[in-house]
Amino acid sequence: MLKITKEVVQQIHAHGLREQPLEACGYLAGKEELISRYYPMTNVDKSPEHFTLDPQEQFQIVKTIRQDNLSLLAVCHTHPASPARPSPEDIRLAYDPQILYVIVSLQSPEPVLRAFRIQQGAVKEESLSVGI
Ligand SMILES: [Zn+2]
Repeated sequence: MLKITKEVVQQIHAHGLREQPLEACGYLAGKEELISRYYPMTNVDKSPEHFTLDPQEQFQIVKTIRQDNLSLLAVCHTHPASPARPSPEDIRLAYDPQILYVIVSLQSPEPVLRAFRIQQGAVKEESLSVGI
């Protein structure tokens, strides 16, 4: 089962709060079934309702992840004022059927994390546990 470290959750939460009311986004990397690293990125949309990664930054961070000897495991973004499930736009714009989409809701004081795969408009939730 996929796991994410507490420290990474705290980092995503902190980034999300800094960017509020805009959505924050980033890459999650790790080894096998453990997400151990968060790479905060720029939301070029600067929007409270959607996000787009910066292609140049994507390229740089993919390189960094490789240098850090980790694998890219998920794309992460926050929902500042809505639940942790893909919005119609998230589903429409999901470009990679292989990658995991982690959504973090900041609606309540404690962040709520959920993970999904999105394949041709079909959303499938994957279990993700916070640990270590
Ligand atoms: Zn979203």
